[in-house]
Amino acid sequence: MQTWSELSETQPTIARVLQNSVRRGRLAHAYLFEGGRGTGRRAAALLLARAFLCEKTVDAEPCLVCRECRRAESGNHPDVHRIQPDGQTIKVDQIRALKKEFSMRGMESAKKVYIIEETETMSAAAANSLLKFLEEPEGEALAVLITASAGQILPTILSRAQVMSFSPLPPDRVTKALVERGFREKEARTAASLTSDLEEAERMFDEEWISQGREKVVQLMNDLISRPQDAYITVHETIMPFFTDRQQIQTALDLMMIWYRDVLRMQVGQSDAVVYIDQEDTLTKQAFQLSQQKLGKNLQAVMDAKRRAGANVPPQLLVEQLLLRLQEGS
Ligand SMILES: [Zn+2]
Repeated sequence: MQTWSELSETQPTIARVLQNSVRRGRLAHAYLFEGGRGTGRRAAALLLARAFLCEKTVDAEPCLVCRECRRAESGNHPDVHRIQPDGQTIKVDQIRALKKEFSMRGMESAKKVYIIEETETMSAAAANSLLKFLEEPEGEALAVLITASAGQILPTILSRAQVMSFSPLPPDRVTKALVERGFREKEARTAASLTSDLEEAERMFDEEWISQGREKVVQLMNDLISRPQDAYITVHETIMPFFTDRQQIQTALDLMMIWYRDVLRMQVGQSDAVVYIDQEDTLTKQAFQLSQQKLGKNLQAVMDAKRRAGANVPPQLLVEQLLLRLQEGS
């Protein structure tokens, strides 16, 4: 991410606020970027660092050609310090080293940036050490603290930072990002409808998990209508051995819910919006075979099963009861 306009595609409010602050030369000393993984917090922190260090910004955008921008481009700008957890936590020694670095380089250039990732993992001692630094930075310093949730950060630190909340990405953005990373669109759409977290979506592609899981659910949804006598066997031989723990059962139920929503979309003529894009023929067929009332009942049945999955009902019982409800007459 190189520019504010790029950031504004996914996080328009944050892009506007930060760009305005750079434009007016009124950046806060410290920011806390909170939000889920994949929402662009890290890229936005680096962009902010560039805009802050650039010698000749153009409408607050980093010029990309000055010495500072070129150094930032190389990925290891000497005045941009990044701290990540050392093992499970960020330790007090890491904060001490940061302070030392800042005091030593004080002469070379006035502006410095430090970015702390997974700020919530700071030890109490590290947080206390950082606190003093946030209050009395040496020279012109900009701090960007990154975290999943501001609720996990000490109030004393929170009160010294401007909090920016990054929103989850909408499904079409996640799909686009996944396709740009080389994943197939049919699976990208499915993953994006299961999570708005880009990194989590990417992990679903490990060992073709999303691809296999999707195929299995498609088979079940097909059997339920075309070969109802086989559905029970499909559940036991195909679905249950693949979706084993409770989290995976929830995902299987989500995949079923997405299927029924797709059938509904077909019924109301929104075929562009379907998630199972390679199943249009089957979806169209089912759109004729299932009444809207029956579809509503099926969706309700899947939602009930999801609730029961969260309440410790044994998966086998839960899935068998769901199957019965899905096979009830219209
Ligand atoms: Zn520049």
